[in-house]
Amino acid sequence: MNKDCIFCKIANGEIPSKTLYEDSDFRVILDLGPATKGHALILPKEHAENLYDLPENTAAKVLPVAQKIASKMKAALGCDGLNLVQNNGETAGQTVMHFHMHVIPRYESDGQKIGWVPGQATPEELDAVAKLIVE
Ligand code: 5GP
Ligand code: ZN
Repeated sequence: MNKDCIFCKIANGEIPSKTLYEDSDFRVILDLGPATKGHALILPKEHAENLYDLPENTAAKVLPVAQKIASKMKAALGCDGLNLVQNNGETAGQTVMHFHMHVIPRYESDGQKIGWVPGQATPEELDAVAKLIVE
């Protein structure tokens, strides 16, 4: 646990939060600035700044937690869709430097925009970038 990290304090119960789910590895809380009704955050209890630092065994447990919460949201809130969002680094929009995954229920006409502007790439450019990543 990092003593200067607010999400460490929340995940480990030092700061109270609206908790939706808890197990030995994670606490799932409601986001204080919700994008939509029910917007939740999955917080590992152990501090890791981002995806690069997250232990692989913890990473493997994140999606099953997201799936549980998503199913509950669908049933309880009647959302029409759902986004999983996970930001790494300021450039990508990360503001709290403790790994977290957003679970954002979506409703028709919720007015939110989560996404990107599609670009263009030639087959050669796709080949080149694929080589850079895998080699
Ligand atoms: P990021 O931009 O880092 O991916 O997301 C950080 C999220 O944490 C934001 O959606 C913000 O509203 C939420 N947040 C920041 N501080 C707190 C807090 O103290 N409690 C809760 N529940 N959410 C927080
Ligand atoms: Zn932390």
